[in-house]
Amino acid sequence: MISALPIAGGSVACSVGAMVWAVRGRSSAVFGPSVWRGPRDRRAVALTFDDGPSEGTSRILEMLATHGALATFFPCGLHVARLPAVVRAVVEAGHEIGNHGYNHPLCCFRSAKFIEADMERAQQVILEHTGARPVWFRAPYGVRWFGIGRAQRRLGLKGVMWTAMGYDWNLRAEAIVERMAGRVSNGAILCLHDGRELRTQPDIGATIEAVRRLVPLLLERGYKLETVSQLLCPTT
Ligand SMILES: [Zn+2]
Repeated sequence: MISALPIAGGSVACSVGAMVWAVRGRSSAVFGPSVWRGPRDRRAVALTFDDGPSEGTSRILEMLATHGALATFFPCGLHVARLPAVVRAVVEAGHEIGNHGYNHPLCCFRSAKFIEADMERAQQVILEHTGARPVWFRAPYGVRWFGIGRAQRRLGLKGVMWTAMGYDWNLRAEAIVERMAGRVSNGAILCLHDGRELRTQPDIGATIEAVRRLVPLLLERGYKLETVSQLLCPTT
């Protein structure tokens, strides 16, 4: 419950904690249907990249191609408009594209109208430049809010969070790989970033180096690298 009466300090703390979980929790579906991992019965994982495309995305595409690995990219609409050839290359390589908003807004305390407009603008710019219509939505900062569920329904999207976060905007490559290697399991959805929010020419060197080490490591452990749709909807 997120509406516990504030009759004691404990209830207030409990209510606040529940609200934080509803907004940020990886398994929360309070504001709309959302998934955070795939089935545990297949040795497959989904590598995902948020906040791109950036000037460094093509390096990641090269490494994925070297290993025949597929991934899912959740670009910001703004960057899609800025670097359309890069996002087209992502789609042409067989990777999946999801919706991560246009301006990467922090949705809490925003109106439902604002949230849906940003999501719809992202959906349109991706469709316009790639011909692909995303079916997955990853909320910027992992923050869900009132209105996201309705927007997802209207735009044909389903929420997807992650099983393990790489914190690659903050960590060095070896620490990113160690985190992911320690948290991966069947059906895991791993989250990295091929951009840094709305920055242009971001330094994603740690991410690139982490991908260079992580992809062969996952393959050596017997994991198949699939798109989010392949992982979650294996018959489609
Ligand atoms: Zn993001």
